[in-house]
Amino acid sequence: MWQEAEKLFVVNKAASSSHENKLMKTVIVVHGGAWDVPDAAAEATVAGVKNAAQVGDTVLRSGGSAIDAVERAVRCLEDDPTFDAGHGSVLNAAGEVELDSLIMDGKNLAAGAVASVRNIANPVSLARAVMEKTDHVMLTDRGAGMFADSISTPLAHDLVTELELEEWEHSNSYRDGVKRFFNTNRGHDTVGAVALDSFGNVACATSTGGIRNKMVGRVGDSPIIGSGGYADNGSGAVSCTGHGESILKVTLARLILFHMEQGKCALEATNMSLQHMFDRVKGCGGAVVLSSTGEWAASFTTPRMAWATVTEDTLHHGFNQREHFTEKL
Ligand code: ASP
Repeated sequence: MWQEAEKLFVVNKAASSSHENKLMKTVIVVHGGAWDVPDAAAEATVAGVKNAAQVGDTVLRSGGSAIDAVERAVRCLEDDPTFDAGHGSVLNAAGEVELDSLIMDGKNLAAGAVASVRNIANPVSLARAVMEKTDHVMLTDRGAGMFADSISTPLAHDLVTELELEEWEHSNSYRDGVKRFFNTNRGHDTVGAVALDSFGNVACATSTGGIRNKMVGRVGDSPIIGSGGYADNGSGAVSCTGHGESILKVTLARLILFHMEQGKCALEATNMSLQHMFDRVKGCGGAVVLSSTGEWAASFTTPRMAWATVTEDTLHHGFNQREHFTEKL
């Protein structure tokens, strides 16, 4: 399920005089979480990723940066209550929302992340602020909250949906949840995006409410640089989703890029890495991947993962295994 990205366009003059009239290629690929998405959520999930890919694509088409594109795309998904990120996040064992996110710029390896943050509608933007406004890469819980306060991030008290409250009340344990989410029926959707801009820079972003019934303070892969995502202009960008404890053990994002650095194409590198994660720790998941030349892949070992990308005037998307639809825009 990979393609050479075909989008060629003249860089917006206003965007950069030094790149005037240069033909450059841009790509954005987004995902809405790898798990066994129930049929009832299918339509909203697919619509959400298609919308986010187009929002990110608009940023890139107007000469915007890859880091802006992934942040904007992930913010869309955080604002959509269909997804387990920002609004719509799952609840931990104490019935609270704790959010994790990362963002990374492949140009200079600048990275920012937040873990276990509460009452923040767009953790990806807080992660970006950590990257741009602090000397650190990651802030957690209380410190992240204090930092959010110091830069006047608005607090959100409406992140929990009625549906999640119902699901949480009927859920049993984290372990049962992991089995159900990733190997059979119900679940949640972490979100993520990777992009290549017209200046040749790649970026990634990932955001999640985690896995229902997680222990208070549990941090999964999503805010961990190298596990939940990684971006390096030298190889490409990855955003991961799936069973966080498994992804952490194999450092999935870096593993995929390692295989690409060894000469594998994006799809082969992703499939090999997901297979390795299954063989070594029985973990399932998925990833969206982009090479620095614009070759992309969306692959998963769970039953479903909604993904979408825009190339030229065509929207590509998929949801079930081996599915690839195209729509003219
Ligand atoms: N990876 C996320 C976590 O373990 C969950 C997911 O991707 O659905 O927190």
